[in-house]
Amino acid sequence: MKGIKKMSINISKPYAPPFDDYMMEIKDIWETRMFTNVGSKHKKLERKLEKYLNAKKVSLFTNGHLALETALEALELKGEIITTPFTFSSTIQAIVRRGLRPVFCDINESDFTLNTDLIEDYITDKTCAILPVHIYGNVCDVNKFDKLSKKTNLPIIYDAAHAFGVKYNNIDISNYGTISMFSFHATKVYHTVEGGCLAYNDLNLEDKFSKIRNFGLDGDEAVISGFNAKMTEIHAAMGLCNLLYIQEQINRRKVLSDRYDNKLNNVKGIRLNNVSKLITRNYAYYPIRVIEGESSISRDRLIEILKEHDIHVRKYYHPLVSQYKIFENKYDINDTPIASKIANEIIVLPLYPDLKEREIDKICNIIIEQLN
Ligand SMILES: *Cc1c(COP(=O)(O)O)cnc(C)c1O
Repeated sequence: MKGIKKMSINISKPYAPPFDDYMMEIKDIWETRMFTNVGSKHKKLERKLEKYLNAKKVSLFTNGHLALETALEALELKGEIITTPFTFSSTIQAIVRRGLRPVFCDINESDFTLNTDLIEDYITDKTCAILPVHIYGNVCDVNKFDKLSKKTNLPIIYDAAHAFGVKYNNIDISNYGTISMFSFHATKVYHTVEGGCLAYNDLNLEDKFSKIRNFGLDGDEAVISGFNAKMTEIHAAMGLCNLLYIQEQINRRKVLSDRYDNKLNNVKGIRLNNVSKLITRNYAYYPIRVIEGESSISRDRLIEILKEHDIHVRKYYHPLVSQYKIFENKYDINDTPIASKIANEIIVLPLYPDLKEREIDKICNIIIEQLN
């Protein structure tokens, strides 16, 4: 129809709580003028998240990335960290910026998380930690990592940016490993606009995290190295509002994700994200693989065709972080053949609570039409 602009569909759209809820939540800040510096909203959100994530302790940060850097700093790590090449830039930047050397281990073809059968081959006397990623909210082989940590004394730091509220075997995932980092970026399942946290069970870490995120200060004097990574009260207020709606959001994501599953289940040339029944999911992302040799068109061509229909999907995560320019060809892509293959096949389709059923149908119909 003339004058009506066709809406484009993007990979994600941030959730917004009812406007009045947020206004109510921040009203008292105008009176107290306590805008930041670990105020009452910050403290309240930490307690609420400890409950929600079932973690002994939660520490908030400006964003997930600085939370991750803080975790590596607090553990005083030096040397090599074993991690996955199939992740977002943040994981690897945290390692590099802390002066540590990443060592890349390959992933499982089934769930795209680190392959624990291979990992021991990479452990040397230089290894100081393992940093697995719960990619798309798919849970890593947490029990095996815990065993490995006991055996080797290496800390396991999870990048759980995608895995807010996820459980494995009915146990909240922050109860596995040494520390888990969650991101509260606006595009994530749960958000504080920008924000993030560390969840952990070792109470000794709390004081260190608090100091590092506040210039290393103890009173008037810096006692350790630190920076500014405090979450503001304005952001914590958004977190308090959004927490009231999180289950509703996840339920809606499930409905949409199931709809994709039903439509795309038997399409020749694509594979869906096969999630273990032991995982309580958060439906953060909807990845599919376009299998070369089985599919009638290439992954990149399918992305182009969707774009022609104003549907904007992403190749999360291509290229592999090990192939970034910052590493100047230091890492051979053939050392992680499964990750390399998945990076060439992956597409993440739009998934967010506001997405309409008919929009999913449209996306699926285009895919089905192209692949049949
Ligand atoms: C979003 C994300 C981060 C970084 O979180 P921010 O809150 O944006 O700093 C880290 N790792 C992964 C895998 C992510 O997707």
